[in-house]
Amino acid sequence: MSVHNANFPSVLDQLAASGHKKVVFCNDPDTGLKAIIAIHDTTLGPALGGTRMWNYVSEAEALEDVLRLSKGMTYKSAITGLNLGGGKAVIIGDPRKMKTEALMRSFGRFIKNLNGEFITAEDMGTTTRDMEFIRMETEFVTGVPESIGGAGNPAPFTAKGVFLGIKACVKEVFGTDMLAGKSVVVQGTGNVGENLVELLRQENVEVYVSDINEERLQMIARKYKAKPIEADKIFTIGADIYAPCALGATVNDKTIKSMKFAIIAGSANNQLADEQVHGQMLLDKGILYAPDYLINAGGLISCYSELTGFGKKRTMQLTENIYDATREVIKLSKQENIPTNSAAAHIAEKRISDIKKIKSSY
Ligand code: NAD
Repeated sequence: MSVHNANFPSVLDQLAASGHKKVVFCNDPDTGLKAIIAIHDTTLGPALGGTRMWNYVSEAEALEDVLRLSKGMTYKSAITGLNLGGGKAVIIGDPRKMKTEALMRSFGRFIKNLNGEFITAEDMGTTTRDMEFIRMETEFVTGVPESIGGAGNPAPFTAKGVFLGIKACVKEVFGTDMLAGKSVVVQGTGNVGENLVELLRQENVEVYVSDINEERLQMIARKYKAKPIEADKIFTIGADIYAPCALGATVNDKTIKSMKFAIIAGSANNQLADEQVHGQMLLDKGILYAPDYLINAGGLISCYSELTGFGKKRTMQLTENIYDATREVIKLSKQENIPTNSAAAHIAEKRISDIKKIKSSY
């Protein structure tokens, strides 16, 4: 029973609603650090998730973001077959103005105090350099540079997983996973987007690219012979596949209405503005959606390799499993006539509950 009676849910009510295990609020007046670490589930292993630094307009917004993202990490690790739980951290503040060595190291000490229950990595607003600062205080950090024993940039693995997710969907829709002659819109040509464009162009895919950074957009278009398009053309273009590789929530009431794509498969986290509503809308419209956390897990696999000590070959093998995992999700979605995001959630939840049972059986 809740003891909180204000008009908005208390923090503990929010944790109960989303099934979170623990949330740690970090405050260090000396460095200006204000951060929140959310641990969603540790059934499968320590909670691993990136640290995002963002100029949140309020603490409530930061808490909402960290709760949503940490829960997503639980599902991503579970469906990928990794022995990791789900967690995430957010640091409140503008990374360009507030980030210092002392702030990152102070944050590292909060992670250290969790004794391995939470392991972090880089995310929006943080870099491998920041992970090095955290590493000065605690071993519970991944994504440090290769030069100091890390696995390096995870984006090529993320892009490879997305590419294989696209192939698995193309197989379902077109009966063959040959990509030549298909057309793909890649929204966001950053770290992952660029690697994805390269893989697609190697298979003679017709690639349209979009980016708010005009200079980068033109550079990528020239380098890979892709076609730049304006942002407002993305959802009306008659391409086969939409690969969101920039922000989340781009699949929503408004965009679904005008979409002519057969497939949505990209790297951005939380692509569906509302999981409950928009997965079903896509199913009804006959658009095949590859669940984001399933096909963008290559980067997480790369972080996992750093923890377990296996090399790039094994990382690539595990990333290649994304093709079969996507086929399995599509199969379950068809069998049960449920959206693919619900099918993916069932598979992830089943693995967690199966492992929970064996852990409590002796
Ligand atoms: P990035 O910051 O390197 O690139 C993002 C690109 O998107 C930038 O070029 C930016 O200018 C562009 N962009 C931003 N808003 C846009 C908009 N409205 N329209 C078009 N372009 C826009 O990021 P990244 O590492 O390539 O990651 C891309 C997405 O994939 C992010 O959502 C990230 O959370 C997710 N992701 C990344 C990884 C990874 O390994 N890097 C792993 C899993 C998920």
